[in-house]
Amino acid sequence: MNNSPETVFSKIIRREIPATIVYEDDLALAFRDIHPQAPVHILVIPKQVIPTIAEATEQDQQLLGHLLLVAKQVAKQENLDQGYRLVINCGNDGGQTVYHLHIHILGGRSMQWPPG
Ligand code: AMP
Repeated sequence: MNNSPETVFSKIIRREIPATIVYEDDLALAFRDIHPQAPVHILVIPKQVIPTIAEATEQDQQLLGHLLLVAKQVAKQENLDQGYRLVINCGNDGGQTVYHLHIHILGGRSMQWPPG
């Protein structure tokens, strides 16, 4: 795994590159995915860099819970009343490409199972 703490998401947090931000608080940011895989595709990230969910610790417990609550709040804000999917990709086999923990919110269409 790549443990470099800085990714493109740090630049989005610092407003160094543009993103369509839909939610922000002291701990978290949510913005639209640049390559949407569903009509609604939003990423929820912690402002603190945790590269992967595998590297989260007990100390991150409250933050991780907060990110899930932000995800459900953003889903409501986006009117995903029919449901949605939350995804965390971890590492190479998980298909993770940006090593700054993020929750994908995917909605606006029916999802398939199992995922690819
Ligand atoms: P993952 O493959 O789970 O690491 O997801 C990374 C996601 O970040 C992908 O869905 C990308 O499309 C998205 N992404 C990468 N760069 C940007 C960016 N600058 N703005 C918004 N989304 C991005």
